[in-house]
Amino acid sequence: MKTYLSSDIGRQLSLMTLISLISMLLLFYLFFNAFSNGYYTEKRAESQHMTSVASSIVNSFHQLSLNGDLTSEEAVSLALGALQEAKYSEDGYFWINNSAGQMMMHPVKPELNHQNMLYFQDPNGQFIFAQFIKAALSGGGWIDYSWMKPSSDDEVVPKVSYVTYFDPWDWIIGTGVYLDDLQAQRNDIFIQSARLIFIVFLLLGLASGLLTKHSLGVIKEIAIKDPLTRLYTRRFLNETEGSLIRRDERDRNGYLYVMFLDIDYFKRINDSYGHRCGDTVLRAIGKALQQHTRPEDLCIRYGGEEFLIVSQADSDALILALAERLRRQIHHLQFREQIELTVSIGVARRQAGEPFTAVLNRSDMNLYQAKQNGRDQVVM
Ligand code: GH3
Ligand code: MG
Ligand code: MG
Repeated sequence: MKTYLSSDIGRQLSLMTLISLISMLLLFYLFFNAFSNGYYTEKRAESQHMTSVASSIVNSFHQLSLNGDLTSEEAVSLALGALQEAKYSEDGYFWINNSAGQMMMHPVKPELNHQNMLYFQDPNGQFIFAQFIKAALSGGGWIDYSWMKPSSDDEVVPKVSYVTYFDPWDWIIGTGVYLDDLQAQRNDIFIQSARLIFIVFLLLGLASGLLTKHSLGVIKEIAIKDPLTRLYTRRFLNETEGSLIRRDERDRNGYLYVMFLDIDYFKRINDSYGHRCGDTVLRAIGKALQQHTRPEDLCIRYGGEEFLIVSQADSDALILALAERLRRQIHHLQFREQIELTVSIGVARRQAGEPFTAVLNRSDMNLYQAKQNGRDQVVM
């Protein structure tokens, strides 16, 4: 029964732990995705915003030239200069190329100025300037690619840039945000979450293990102990009689005895003093049986006011002495009410090869005989 219960409860708790783990992983996945997407969306918005700022700066110089405050050469040169100087956050800068792919201004890599970038490929083989031109000419857009990061010794890292087209001067204005810290933050979150999940899983496992052990103890106690008398239940006897028989077969030194004990006229006690008093008597008998038998004897509350004692003894004389002692002890139990408490006991010895029920039936028959003979006695 123990293994059945423990494996059953254990299985259910393991299942629960597994379900919690899966839910945690799912939550983590959703959170991780939300975080990554949120971060990425934010970076894209940042690059778009900065490009539109640059575009309006360029436009204001263009307006000045249209108003005649500046010549168009002056306006172009001042706009180029302004964007060349404009820096934001750690690695934010603007570049300009034209729709033919020629670099007009690159503040970080001036060696690219005036070069045609149309066939330039990033480490992944993307013709990124062709993509910039296409996106800008179709109203502006983002391009994901890889580029050297100035603050990291020109290490090539993922970047997202927004490009827009300034038609009057055929300029493609772009700026982008490096995404390597997203990667770093993702890794960081991943490691921390994995650690957290591992710890939670470990604690859950531990808790479910302890819970299994505890609930097993409680359930076992409920299943095998009678709550009124604290003696074993009939159910427990059913589950252990096989092993009792096997032990008796193995160990032929002594004999296996069954005592069937029944309270005499118990109904009268209930009727005269009430059910509660009857319960007190049952409890007192349970206690007396435990006190006056050996720990290896099995004391069972078999039915309402019927008890079994399964015991191993070397001889009939010894078991009869025990039965007599029990009968007398119970007779001497003291109660507040003046109860004349007697019991009848039928004893039987197991014969070789006999099933448990056969001995039990014989002890029951002897009990019947004891009742017939006038009660308050032992019959073997
Ligand atoms: P006999 O000497 O022939 O055994 O007579 P009896 O009155 O002891 O036997 P009977 O079988 O007529 O009555 C048994 C009574 O035990 C009936 C029932 O109400 C009572 N009983 C059974 N279980 C409990 C219990 O848990 N508490 C109490 N108080 N009474 C119980
Ligand atoms: Mg009875
Ligand atoms: Mg009775």
